[in-house]
Amino acid sequence: MRLLKQLELAFEKSTIAASRGAASIIAGRALRLPNLEKTATGAVALQFQPGRDCALEVQAGHLLHTAGAGRIASEVRVEWNPRLKSAAGRADYRAKLVSLNPRLAQHGEVEIGRTLRHELAHLLAQFRAGRRRILPHGAEWREACRDLGIADETRCHALPFPTKSYAARLMYRCPHCRQDFPRVRRARRAVACLACCRAYNRGEFDARFKLRLCSGGL
Ligand SMILES: [Zn+2]
Ligand SMILES: [Zn+2]
Repeated sequence: MRLLKQLELAFEKSTIAASRGAASIIAGRALRLPNLEKTATGAVALQFQPGRDCALEVQAGHLLHTAGAGRIASEVRVEWNPRLKSAAGRADYRAKLVSLNPRLAQHGEVEIGRTLRHELAHLLAQFRAGRRRILPHGAEWREACRDLGIADETRCHALPFPTKSYAARLMYRCPHCRQDFPRVRRARRAVACLACCRAYNRGEFDARFKLRLCSGGL
């Protein structure tokens, strides 16, 4: 059990590191948003009302229909969910529900559209896979991204970041799922990918999923 705690801690730390820097990462199915600092004038950016967004639902249904997923196109719902903290979006296949973070509004329409497609790609990939289990950001998801017009989408979803950027940060990567883990400092002990340890080793440390340093800066 102690090992499990270390894994989780490592994961949380990487999330915190990401929220401070120029890049954002995805933890599991959640896209991470950087923290935006208030502007000097104290101006508050436009916020969306919590709840369902009919216009985005029409757009989502159209995108899924065009991609050949007509059966779920009429079921899909899109909501603004203020309970999302650092995650930009989330997809729930069972509920056919895409949740978006109201703070995305500060990042503009392009980012809203991109996040919507990123999350829809999770639904489309699972729809095509049927009952088969697939990795959240595996080959099926990437193919769905291509079909939804965001072929260059990566799980390291970089959002515009209006404040300071931090240079020379470290990037670790899981050799199995290729999830990136940005860190401010070098890891002093072996750290493994929590998602893979959970999926393949009942949440216990597994050297196969030891994070590897892949770059000295972002
Ligand atoms: Zn995702
Ligand atoms: Zn992994």
